[in-house]
Amino acid sequence: MEMNNDKKRRSMIMYLIIAIIALVTLRSYLVPGIMETQIHDVSYTQFLKDIDDKSIEKVTYDTSTGEITYTTGSGTDTKEFRTVAWPNDEELVSKLENSGADMTAEIPDSSANMWLYLLINFLPLIVLFGGAWLLNRRLTKAMGDDAPSMNFGGGGFGLGGGGLGRSGAKEVKGEDTGVTFKDVAGQDEAKESLEEIVNFLEHPDKYAAIGARCPRGALLVGPPGTGKTLLAKAVAGEAEVPFFSISGSEFVEMFVGRGAAKVRDLFKQAKEKAPCIVFIDEIDTVGKKRDTSINSNDEREQTLNQLLAEMDGFDNHKGIVVLAATNRPESLDPALLRPGRFDRRIPVELPDLSGREAILKLHANDVKMEPGVDFGAVARQTPGASGADLANMINEAALRAVRMGRSRVSQTDIEESVDTVIAGEKKKSTVLSEHEKEVVAYHETGHAIVAAVQDGRMPVSKITIVPRTSGALGFTMQAEEDEHYLTTREEYKQRIAVLCGGRAAEELIFGHMTSGAANDIEKATKIARAMVEQLGMSDTFGMMALGQTRNKYLGGGTELTVSEGTAQQVDREVQQLVEEGHQTALKTLRDNRFKLHEIAHYLQKKETITGEEFMRILTRDDGFAPKMPQA
Ligand code: ADP
Ligand code: MG
Ligand code: ZN
Repeated sequence: MEMNNDKKRRSMIMYLIIAIIALVTLRSYLVPGIMETQIHDVSYTQFLKDIDDKSIEKVTYDTSTGEITYTTGSGTDTKEFRTVAWPNDEELVSKLENSGADMTAEIPDSSANMWLYLLINFLPLIVLFGGAWLLNRRLTKAMGDDAPSMNFGGGGFGLGGGGLGRSGAKEVKGEDTGVTFKDVAGQDEAKESLEEIVNFLEHPDKYAAIGARCPRGALLVGPPGTGKTLLAKAVAGEAEVPFFSISGSEFVEMFVGRGAAKVRDLFKQAKEKAPCIVFIDEIDTVGKKRDTSINSNDEREQTLNQLLAEMDGFDNHKGIVVLAATNRPESLDPALLRPGRFDRRIPVELPDLSGREAILKLHANDVKMEPGVDFGAVARQTPGASGADLANMINEAALRAVRMGRSRVSQTDIEESVDTVIAGEKKKSTVLSEHEKEVVAYHETGHAIVAAVQDGRMPVSKITIVPRTSGALGFTMQAEEDEHYLTTREEYKQRIAVLCGGRAAEELIFGHMTSGAANDIEKATKIARAMVEQLGMSDTFGMMALGQTRNKYLGGGTELTVSEGTAQQVDREVQQLVEEGHQTALKTLRDNRFKLHEIAHYLQKKETITGEEFMRILTRDDGFAPKMPQA
């Protein structure tokens, strides 16, 4: 679509340039022939002199202006002159008669003149724009009728802004979105909610017959990359209706006043093509709460008001459904969310284990895979990854296969690409000194041992000390065996202890601290803070909510809503929780320091070890194996 529009725009501009050149040339050739042959202005005295010389062939007298035009000479020698008659020169007529000039008096036909004037000045413009219009139509036809009329670069042509520009909403015929529910893996609940909308779009009359009102709008809410845009397209594809999509940011980028016009135009197009879907992506950019803050934005508010008016204005028996997507639902203006507008909210969450496996398999269909690749294992390694991340992993794996000169993607390619997407590309240029490598190896082993000893399961699928471009010097990948949605206080404490394990190992073995634990500390503190502020897991505050959640889907934290004194107490409480985890980690590692040495040196040598290798060494019965709780 974008490409086609670009091509179209380019050929339009070419056409306009050629047409303008052609017209200018034509005008300078033709018009002087009619209007401005070399006429010399002369004085009345000169005129009288020419009469006396009897050199005048033809005289024309314009009765309305008193202008006299006359010619001298004949054939190629003909010259034309112009002058204005001297008032009340009564002898002129007889003088002319005597000179033998051919006399004509003219009463100008003013209407004919006007037409000529209009023709000369406006015909070129008519030809210019008529041609542009025809060309545009032809181009549109040639492209399978899938584009709305030409947008003159948002008024960049100086054609009076809104005149020719359309809303810029890209219309793609339903069939052309080429996406159906089959292309969206997982997300079963979201699909179920959208099923009703599909049904409504297919048979709006059935709903009208009963008098049921189908939702006008539905809001797809969820973190970035979970497939909101994809789902909206799939609804259009399933119902085989046109899909008009516009992104919130497109409204805002425009000149003042254009946003509202664009909304009006978008809905006008939609009404013509109903039943159809209108999709507003990133609606939070226009739909933010209208407030009195200093940086409130008039343009945005106008656009939002227009949107609200339009959503009330259309008759949805025809079957127009407005879908919108956002990852910041809490910032939306409440007016948008009231019944009759976006009253339905469809959560699009990060995929769970089976969802991730399904998404991986779906995208793997597009690339050549070696048989027997274990997607389940990959899915287990990627908790928290979005659909977009997973699609990216498959693509990275394919790129890697090409780099390696293979024709099929293998399990290693995928595993390597998981690391790439999660932790950044392997960094070849950072060469760690042998000592640094040793520190990193102890650090990572520390995490792994604390994790394993606490719950007795194989906690890590992989430990590596190969530096990543993201800046991580190594990482310990925690695999989730099965998903669970409730986390106990004990489990949170264990997580904090695991995060402290890296630093604890450094302290224990080398007796100094390094910068390598910054990220761990941040994460551990975040967990502790959530326990105190949101989850009611602290001794002091119990179930009192201390904060308000911000930007849930963008991973934003909480905003404390307590007095200053309490805030200090919260900080103390958080600090205590982290310290507790730190002590647990120190104790665990002290108890298992022989295993810590052994595994760290093994890791330092091999750089990457699997979870199985790790567990084999840890549980080998040599008198040092930790007593582990039964999983
Ligand atoms: P969002 O709009 O929620 O930010 P998108 O719909 O743009 O996310 O998703 C980006 C890409 O991620 C899609 O084009 C698709 O390739 C992939 N993707 C995301 N979720 C899924 C899913 N559930 N099934 C298949 N592919 C998905
Ligand atoms: Mg999107
Ligand atoms: Zn660490």
